[in-house]
Amino acid sequence: MRFAIFSDLHANLEATEAVLADARERECTHFVCLGDVVGYNANPHECVEIVRKMDCPVVKGNHDEQASLAESSRGFNALAEAAINWTREHLTEEDKEWLRQMRMSRQVRDFTIVHATLDRPDQWAYVFNNLDAAASFTYQHTTVCFFGHTHVPGAFVRDEGVKRVKVDQLMIEESKKYFINVGSVGQPRDGDWRAAYCIYHIDKNVVEQRRIKYDLATTQKKIIQAGLPRLLAERLELGR
Ligand code: ZN
Repeated sequence: MRFAIFSDLHANLEATEAVLADARERECTHFVCLGDVVGYNANPHECVEIVRKMDCPVVKGNHDEQASLAESSRGFNALAEAAINWTREHLTEEDKEWLRQMRMSRQVRDFTIVHATLDRPDQWAYVFNNLDAAASFTYQHTTVCFFGHTHVPGAFVRDEGVKRVKVDQLMIEESKKYFINVGSVGQPRDGDWRAAYCIYHIDKNVVEQRRIKYDLATTQKKIIQAGLPRLLAERLELGR
C-alpha cells in the first residue's frame, strides 16, 4: 500500500497534474491532501474539482479557509490578500462549500494529517524549528504526522530530543515520532522550483520525498493573463 501525500497545491494546475501523474506511475494506491488547494495561482476551481473528485482524506489550509469566507478576516500579507480576493471571485458556491466543510486535522490509517500544527491547528502557526515542532509533538498520538503550510519539505524526529532531518528515503521506527513536511506542490519555497510531495510506503515503513518538473512557463503565463500580481509568477521559478 502506497500513499501519495501532497499539500499546498495553491491552484497550480500544471504542478498538480504532474504530481498526480508521477504518483500513479509510482503505483500509489491511496491519496491524501494536506490543504491549501487554492490561493496564489490561477486555477483554483480546477484544483478544487480534481481533489474533490479524488474523494480522498483532506484537511483545511489557511487559504482554503480565507477563500471560503465572504471577505478576508486577518493575517494575510498584501500579496496573499490580492490573490485570495481574486480566488474568491473565481470559485463557485459549491467549491466554497467544499472548502468550508474541511476538517482541521484527522487520522488516516495509523497516521495523522494537519495543515499547520497539531497544538493549535486553527491558529496557522509555522513550524520552522525544533522548538515549534516540540509543541506539536505534545499533541501527536501517532508515530507519524504529515503537515504542510511552510512550503519547505523536511522532517522533525523526536527521540531523546527533537532534531531536523532531510526526508529523501526516511525509515520510520516505531520507538520515535515523526512530524513530516511534504513540501508544496504549487509554490515550493526551499529554493527548488520543482513540485514536492511524499510517498508513504506503509508496508515498508519508508517515507520518500519526490520532486517533479512541470510546465512552469504555462503556469506563469496564466498568472499574468489572470491579472494576478506578477511577483507570484516570478517567485515560482526561484522556488521562493
Ligand atoms: Zn500554503
